Amino acid sequence: MAGESDIWPASSLSPFASPESLDPQLKDFLDKANLRLCNWLGEAASRSPLPSLSVLPEIAPLKLGLSSEALLEDLQMVMDGAYQPSHPGALAHFDPPPLTASIAADLICAGLNNNLLAEELSPSLSRLERQVCRWFSDCLGLPSTAGGVAASGGTLSNLMALVVARQTANLQQDSSAVVIASVDSHVSLGKAVRVMGLAPDSLRRVPTDENGQMSLQAVEDLLKKLKFSGRKCFAVVATAGTTVRGAVDPLLSLCHLCKREGVWLHVDGAIGGAFALSKTTKPIVSAMSQADSVTVNPQKLLGITKTSSLLLVSDRSHLASTFSTGLPYLEPSWTDSHGGEMGLQGTRPAEVLKLWLGLRQLGELGIKQLLESAIDRRCFLQGKLDTSSFELISGPLHVIAFTPKKADQNQAEKWSSLTRQKLLEEHLMLSRPLHHGRHYLKVVLGNPHTKSSHLEKLSFLLNKSVDEVS
Ligand SMILES: *Cc1c(COP(=O)(O)O)cnc(C)c1O
Repeated sequence: MAGESDIWPASSLSPFASPESLDPQLKDFLDKANLRLCNWLGEAASRSPLPSLSVLPEIAPLKLGLSSEALLEDLQMVMDGAYQPSHPGALAHFDPPPLTASIAADLICAGLNNNLLAEELSPSLSRLERQVCRWFSDCLGLPSTAGGVAASGGTLSNLMALVVARQTANLQQDSSAVVIASVDSHVSLGKAVRVMGLAPDSLRRVPTDENGQMSLQAVEDLLKKLKFSGRKCFAVVATAGTTVRGAVDPLLSLCHLCKREGVWLHVDGAIGGAFALSKTTKPIVSAMSQADSVTVNPQKLLGITKTSSLLLVSDRSHLASTFSTGLPYLEPSWTDSHGGEMGLQGTRPAEVLKLWLGLRQLGELGIKQLLESAIDRRCFLQGKLDTSSFELISGPLHVIAFTPKKADQNQAEKWSSLTRQKLLEEHLMLSRPLHHGRHYLKVVLGNPHTKSSHLEKLSFLLNKSVDEVS
């Protein structure tokens, strides 16, 4: 067997921090990594949001572990090729700059290395998660029986919601059972029905109206038709904030309809759910309080670092009755249920830490400011865009998409591709969704670094771009 000093020569960074006393190597390495990160963030505005092709460092571990300097150089190469959400022109997606407290909490989370699977592996953090879910439920106006669980992204939250809905309807054995959502609902629902082993036509997408909202009449008609043909529907999914235009489905009417029909209503509030956290913006989504379950994704707007998503259920006992296995190799839960018994994931990091600390950093006023200013920026840009040249589609939130009126489908594709490229050269990054068969450019205005001067420049370039449609 090789001696300790052969495996860990003085030149490589020692692998684990000393449990005896403050480890100078650990501190030095974290300080240096920290400085690089601070520089990366501090230089954001002077680069592009989307770096050009970068080189990756070597992948395989060498025979001997690397020194701290070599590790930092490796890290730097990856950082240099990273997307930069803190650039003021990063306007393409729901990926805002990270909150300072959230960054620190992510680091602490890694250092604690607790496991939300079970309480004995995360005593304080399991309680924190339960209470943060409780607090969110209260903000959304869900009943006192409500609670939830954190998940690594909205895709998982939506999947878990549908599994709970199906179990509650006692339709686990029925692969022809149906979920109803709108044509503008998120792609994650398509994944969910596949994972759940449902028939390919189990996801029924009903049309939206001219505002991008799910047609209530179409849902009603479809429910009738399904009944007539003997197919069971176990959930209607309403979207609070659609991905391309930020439309909010008619939540209250859908809640009433679903109650009447005895069908689970899930609200996919991955984009819009956060707007419930401030009194002034809450009315946009207030009917979420009547839903059976809600997905919220604080990672998408509030600057909580990825991933941060919650599934909230109006009767939290449904979570354990759907997912619990008994966890025979762990001590029983001290209170409710182990985290690992409330959802699909087993071992899970304490993602709740950066959510909780980030919200504490913002405070009520900071949250209100983030939400309102995002909507204000969308209104400002909307007012600057030439409505005689563009078809604009938007909703009550902070996202807007547009396409030239005079272009056919091919011209719209060319225009969107060319314009996106030209804007990128100006360090303005938009996205280019294909929506109802036609290409649009989309702007997401959740970036707090974006000033009106950026939006003036953006609208000027966009209005000019229409002249080049051919
Ligand atoms: C982003 C999004 C999701 C999926 O969330 P992930 O965190 O990307 O898995 C679900 N629904 C809507 C409406 C979304 O915008």
